Amino acid sequence: MGEMIEAKEWRHERERMVKGQIIARGVEDQRVVDAMLRVPRHVFVDKIYEHQAYNDYPLSVGHGQTISQPYIVAVMTELLQLKPGDTVLEIGTGSGYQAAILALMCKMVYTIERISALREQARERLEKLGFTNIAYMTGDGSLGWPQFAPYDGIIVTAGAPEVPNALIEQLAEKGRLVIPVGSEFFQTLNVVTKQRGRVFRKEIFECTFVPLLGKQGWKE
Ligand code: SAM
Repeated sequence: MGEMIEAKEWRHERERMVKGQIIARGVEDQRVVDAMLRVPRHVFVDKIYEHQAYNDYPLSVGHGQTISQPYIVAVMTELLQLKPGDTVLEIGTGSGYQAAILALMCKMVYTIERISALREQARERLEKLGFTNIAYMTGDGSLGWPQFAPYDGIIVTAGAPEVPNALIEQLAEKGRLVIPVGSEFFQTLNVVTKQRGRVFRKEIFECTFVPLLGKQGWKE
C-alpha cells in the first residue's frame, strides 16, 4: 500500500461526498469508503476545477477525457471485491484518481493510458502523494499487459464495443473484470468472471464513458 501523505485539505468536502453520494446510494464496502475518504480528489483535477472536485459529476481532465463521477469510481471498485494481496490492471489511467483508490486497497496496480501526457501527469501526482505500488504504461490497454498477468481484478474505465479477449485471457481464475460495454455513447457496466475456463457475465447498470480506443476497442 502506498504511504500516502495524509490529506487534510478539503476533508469536509470529502466526507460530504462519501456520505451523500457513496454510502447513501448503497456502497457498503468499508475499504472503498475509507479509500475515498483518504484520497484527495482535488489533486487530480486542474486548479480551475478544484472547487468542483467533490461534486456529483465527472470533470474534464483535458485531451477530451474525464475523471469519472465519484459514485461510479466507488461502485466499480466495490465490484472488484479486492483483497489486500491482489494485483489489479486498470485500463484508462486518465487523472490517476481511480488508480490511487485501487492502490490503497491492493498490493499492486498496473495502469495503462493511451495518451502519454495524461499518463505522465498521473504518475507525477501519484508519486508526489507517496504511492509506490503503481506501475504505468503508455499504450493500447485493450490488449492488456500480458507481462504481469494473471490479474485478480481488471477495471476498464472507458466504454468498449465488446469485452476484449485479451483481458479475459489475462484475468485470473476467480478474478473479476469490470467493464462498460455498449455503443460509443451509452454502455452497460458488466462484471466478467472466469471459473474453470468458463466465462460468466453479469450486467449491473447503464452508464456513459468515453470510448475505449484500440485494437480490441473502437477504431481510432
Ligand atoms: N480512471 C480515470 C480516472 O480516474 O481519472 C478515468 C479515465 S477516463 C474516463 C478514460 C481514459 O481511458 C482516458 O484517459 C482515455 O485516454 C483512456 N483510454 C481510452 N482508450 C484506451 C486504451 N485503448 N488504452 C488505454 N487507455 C485508453
